Amino acid sequence: MQVINSIKELQKIISNLKHKGKIIGFVPTMGALHQGHLSLIRNSKKQCDVTVCSIFVNPTQFNDKDDYNKYPRNFDYDLKLLEQIQCDITFLPSEKEMYPEPDHREFEFGHIAELMEGAHRPGHFNGVAQIVSKLFEAVPANKAFFGQKDFQQYVIIKDMVRQLSLDIEIIPCPIVREESGLAMSSRNERLSVSERKIAASISKILTWSKESYPQYTVPELKKAVIDKFSKIKELDLEYFEIVEDKNLELITNWNTNQKIVACIAIFCGNVRLIDNIVFNL
Ligand code: AMP
Repeated sequence: MQVINSIKELQKIISNLKHKGKIIGFVPTMGALHQGHLSLIRNSKKQCDVTVCSIFVNPTQFNDKDDYNKYPRNFDYDLKLLEQIQCDITFLPSEKEMYPEPDHREFEFGHIAELMEGAHRPGHFNGVAQIVSKLFEAVPANKAFFGQKDFQQYVIIKDMVRQLSLDIEIIPCPIVREESGLAMSSRNERLSVSERKIAASISKILTWSKESYPQYTVPELKKAVIDKFSKIKELDLEYFEIVEDKNLELITNWNTNQKIVACIAIFCGNVRLIDNIVFNL
């Protein structure tokens, strides 16, 4: 596996590979890798000739400095995992490499960035679009792989690619969960043993909502879910929203021919977790 720190060097390598007709797959991450990330790499390896993974904890997408400072960083271990899984190239840039000067670009996503994560983490998606557009320039791949765990982020990235007319295919990959059902996340490392057990009820309640939804109206279901979480004192619900998958319009009744996705953000202690489930699959 090649580990590259420089954008110029990486662009040269990718351009040579593309010249030889190789299909390039790209998996952007913030490190602290787990099986969720590795599943994206496996998908890329299946679909592409060469897989590039990037590790960069992007400061501009953190609206909370404390969250940025506490974000788990474990680059040596990450590199070992990537070596084991036979990732071809890892891009590990410094902050100076990605932001030689401050990025003042303002992206306009309208409604899809105004609810859920967008409402609760001001500036988050602008920071995501800044870094992902820079990474797509550094890694001019054919396909980029994103997890559906960050479902709203996937919708935003697709829209960014459309707005900037980028020639890259965005491939969604399913959520990987722990045995308990808890969606894998780098932030899970910050949960205590007992918090981890309690956090498993997030996916349990989401699964209950998927199994029960037709028996309720939309407001009734939302209330039932909110009531269930209010009984678990260790969990502090930030939002539970039910949306259509393409444009993130809030659902008011179940009569839609689009996918219905229930999305949640919740604090377990001081760790903020997100998850989602598709109802009608
Ligand atoms: P992150 O390092 O958290 O920025 O995530 C990098 C990529 O991994 C994003 O596309 C995430 O959606 C994806 N990802 C994170 N957790 C999971 C998971 N449990 N299952 C599938 N994909 C995931």
